[in-house]
Amino acid sequence: MSMLINNDTIIKDDNELIRKKSEDVSLPLSSEDKETLLKMLKYVDDSTDNEIAEKENLRPAVGISAIQIGIPKKMTAIILKDSEGKKIVEYALVNPKIVSESVEKTYLSTGEGCLSVEKEHEGYVYRARRVKVKAYDILQDKEIIIKASGYLAVILQHELDHFKGMLYYDHINANAPFYEDPEAIVIE
Ligand SMILES: [Zn+2]
Repeated sequence: MSMLINNDTIIKDDNELIRKKSEDVSLPLSSEDKETLLKMLKYVDDSTDNEIAEKENLRPAVGISAIQIGIPKKMTAIILKDSEGKKIVEYALVNPKIVSESVEKTYLSTGEGCLSVEKEHEGYVYRARRVKVKAYDILQDKEIIIKASGYLAVILQHELDHFKGMLYYDHINANAPFYEDPEAIVIE
């Protein structure tokens, strides 16, 4: 399999593979799995560099999961940068699992997007406002607990949905895509 990750090689939602469930990864990580996860992390990092993104045909992203490159394993890479491009969050996670989540919901006012989705699906995606995620992070080389809220919590839930073969628009209320839950906290 080609290890080149770009907008041409990323699995889109017209490919049934995107619905495949991902399997747990055995630890210690094989060198092949580690290489895959680091390539995914590099994709996310490079994707928000305009020059590299244009040259290599990368769509900007804050996260990518292994199934999106055709590998049904529970691995995901996430990078959040500030307005100056400095990394404020960086994870390369193996077997991440939500261990608890808040009842309180949140959603992005702009809706969500996904590297595997090219057609626009408008509407709000309600998610837990806070999640606690247990995972092995290869960057820290240990098992960690991430206590996330707001945008990072949304990203983690979006990426972990990929392990179940779920896409963000599966959560959109088809009858009322812009229904505003008065109890939910909006993220602008
Ligand atoms: Zn996605």
